[in-house]
Amino acid sequence: MDTAFFTAWITRAAEAVEADRARLSDLDAAIGDGDHGTNLDRGFAGVLRVLDSTDARTPANVLALTGTTLISKVGGASGPLYGSAFRRAANILGEAEQVDLPGLAAALEAALAAVRKLGAARDGDKTMVDALAPAVAALGAAAADGAALLDALDAMVDAANAGAEATIPMQASKGRASYLGPRSIGHLDPGAASTVLILTALRDTAAA
Ligand code: ADP
Ligand code: MG
Ligand code: MG
Repeated sequence: MDTAFFTAWITRAAEAVEADRARLSDLDAAIGDGDHGTNLDRGFAGVLRVLDSTDARTPANVLALTGTTLISKVGGASGPLYGSAFRRAANILGEAEQVDLPGLAAALEAALAAVRKLGAARDGDKTMVDALAPAVAALGAAAADGAALLDALDAMVDAANAGAEATIPMQASKGRASYLGPRSIGHLDPGAASTVLILTALRDTAAA
């Protein structure tokens, strides 16, 4: 996976967020303030403009530009969380021009660590962590098993989807949804839903 691949991933993620902007904001309206879709779409639209006008030379460049732009353009909790995730992943990739499956798994592991560090959410708190953590674990396990790239990414997406679905019966303990207490139960977490979109875009880029 080279710089063009990472650019294609982020472009596909931006398109997916735009297409699902209303759904993400509706999910957030149920247990938050209804802005998750517009927040992320504003951020990713900014990312596309930056990638278009910058000559990214490495995969890390692409992810660092993505993270920095999300931090500056997304109002709301999800901006710094996703932004730090992409920036930490970029740090792990360093100057590499090609990223293999173990490298990608390590980068996403670092992204998860960044979200955990900044947001202090634990598994089961009904956040994006509940989609991202099982996805990263599945990707890492597949990489350790020597799986083919597409099989590993399929396992990652399946785990993200299952993790997101599992947020429905959870009571939120972090972010705005936690203000609702038990009334947060019965709703899909919007950040878990957007994590599925971003990771599905990664899988679809590899499959394209
Ligand atoms: P805001 O809540 O500030 O309006 P968004 O609506 O853009 O921000 O994002 C809300 C999402 O952010 C939640 O659905 C949840 O997944 C995620 N989130 C909020 N707080 C945390 C946290 N401390 N750790 C991890 N994820 C969090
Ligand atoms: Mg919100
Ligand atoms: Mg908000």
